[in-house]
Amino acid sequence: MKTDILSMTLPELTEFVISLGEPKYRAGQIYGWLMRGEDISGMGNIPKSLKEKLSDASFVASAKMINKQVSRDGTVKYLYELYDGEAVESVLMQYKYGKTICISSEVGCPMGCAFCASTLGGIKRKLLPSEMLSQVIQTQKDAGERISNIVMMGIGEPLDNYDNVIKFLRLVGSPDGLNIGYRHISLSTCGIVDKIYALADEDLPITLSISLHASDDETRSSLMPVNNKWNIEKLLTACRDYFKKTGRRISFEYTLVSGKNDDERDAARLASVLKKYCGTMPLHVNLIPVNNVTERGFVPSDRGRVEKFAGVLTQNRIEATVRRRLGSDIDASCGQLRAKHEKIL
Ligand code: SAH
Repeated sequence: MKTDILSMTLPELTEFVISLGEPKYRAGQIYGWLMRGEDISGMGNIPKSLKEKLSDASFVASAKMINKQVSRDGTVKYLYELYDGEAVESVLMQYKYGKTICISSEVGCPMGCAFCASTLGGIKRKLLPSEMLSQVIQTQKDAGERISNIVMMGIGEPLDNYDNVIKFLRLVGSPDGLNIGYRHISLSTCGIVDKIYALADEDLPITLSISLHASDDETRSSLMPVNNKWNIEKLLTACRDYFKKTGRRISFEYTLVSGKNDDERDAARLASVLKKYCGTMPLHVNLIPVNNVTERGFVPSDRGRVEKFAGVLTQNRIEATVRRRLGSDIDASCGQLRAKHEKIL
């Protein structure tokens, strides 16, 4: 098995380079090339003999762009091929405060949420730290401009790929590498409770986002099978404990599905459960009308219902934001592009 050098920190790479009988300073040069998205053959100032040694002992698990769609609103969706021919998506969004990339953490997803295209064919495998990092590096290279923010809201459940995701976060936040501040990184989870507790112990001041999507267990279990293992009470208790330990506020995602979870009683119940378990922290809910994944038969709530829902939360002193739908003309919903590529949709 060859060593995956793009998953290494600079100190780890330094040890590796020394183990090949090469001087230490070469590690810094190699690391610089890796962060600029080069593979071994493209490393300009590295002698041919060292390139050969590197190619014999290691590989760069980089993501290769195989499709790119540009939306009218400037959102760009990339389809990346991995070393074994699998594919994942990344989305680049332009906000006033800078460029934000949404990256994938797994090839497919095991969680089975009813409205989500990423999970249609199940999970193929988890991504390596390098494969998550490479989505950022290659997208930045293509955009020709620094990416300042990352959201882990693409394909996959990041907390199901816990160790690799933590390693990725340490790599991408390192001053030796892309140096993206943890406060500019969000991780979204469907609610893997034991890993939320583990994350609280990591000392990584990222923003945690919880995909809640319902305010009672029956509805939530019908949308998200993970709720059968960790119900709303367990999940929101973990959120409360996470905030207590880290002081980092959590945001809640709520996808509005017409006639399923979007009336004013749902909103009132949501306000009440959030306050019951998480009343000690500032509460913020992002409301997202479900994106059409036609095959799944979910209809987005209309504007009037969304506004009424948001109004009930606001009356209860819970901040609510209605998410703009970026890239709706380019299959930008979770997993749609890959699903088409794989002919799952
Ligand atoms: N597995 C993680 C991260 C990936 S999904 C999680 O569940 O949070 C990112 C967000 O998109 C989640 O909140 C997910 O529930 C939501 N999502 C998935 N499919 C969607 C759809 N068709 N419409 C709107 N939101 C969707």
